[in-house]
Amino acid sequence: MPVIRLDSSYKPKADLLKGRTILITGAGDGIGKQLALSAAAHGANLVLLGRTQAKLEAVYDQIESTTPSKPIICPIDLETLDDEQAKEIAEAIQAEFGVLDGLVHNAAILGQRTPIQSYSTAAWQSVMQINVNAGFILSKALIPLMSESADARMLFTSSGVGRTGIAYWGAYSVSKFAIEGLAQLLADELTETTNIRVNAVNPGGTRTSMRATAFPAENPAGVKSAEDLMSGYLYLLGPDSRAISGQSIDI
Ligand code: NDP
Repeated sequence: MPVIRLDSSYKPKADLLKGRTILITGAGDGIGKQLALSAAAHGANLVLLGRTQAKLEAVYDQIESTTPSKPIICPIDLETLDDEQAKEIAEAIQAEFGVLDGLVHNAAILGQRTPIQSYSTAAWQSVMQINVNAGFILSKALIPLMSESADARMLFTSSGVGRTGIAYWGAYSVSKFAIEGLAQLLADELTETTNIRVNAVNPGGTRTSMRATAFPAENPAGVKSAEDLMSGYLYLLGPDSRAISGQSIDI
């Protein structure tokens, strides 16, 4: 599948996401946190899902003090997410907002950086559980609620190593290949029959704690910030990207 590169000059309108309810996984830190703040600033209602409650509460407080939006917080470890928990999330969103217009599968872990022959099986399974299986379970539970939306978006977060296998990236790389596949097949299942558009997004090297762990010798000042990605993410979550589905996109 050819990769689309977004036009970096896109300027989101101030109320681009007004009235849209968007769930972001990994909303407590890094790209997910910045996206939650930016989406709320552009009018969205947020559902903040992440592992560390204190981080989610800090994002909640920031959103509540700067916008009229009152997010829902879901402190959940995606490593142990099951159908029952995912159903409870869907019910909470339905009760609060009635419908879901955006789902951003952003949370991920890096896992080990080591040759396959020394890769721990337990570490492999954790990466696949968090990076891939949780996205499947959450999508399955939330598609009915998204099908009620007049214009919904689902974004999977890929990576350069989800398109080209590179030595020592192990389960992380394989998980991102899997995500590209899940995004493609979901787009094929949903684009003709629902208002849901599904794409895989590669943010590229971005200054977060995951990046610092993957490249400890790198000077972070030379890496773009999560804020630099926001016009691309907002475009993909808003009405202007309705024609795009089933694509692998670089921001
Ligand atoms: P960070 O590590 O900064 O943030 C990841 C977020 O995911 C954290 O909020 C973390 O929660 C959450 N998370 C991790 N594991 C779980 C779990 N088991 N359950 C719930 N939440 C969890 O990563 P980035 O912001 O850098 O990455 C965001 C996405 O972008 C990822 O999918 C990553 O693979 C992708 N990406 C990033 C690049 C980069 O250069 N930064 C490049 C290419 C792709 P907590 O803080 O509580 O641990």
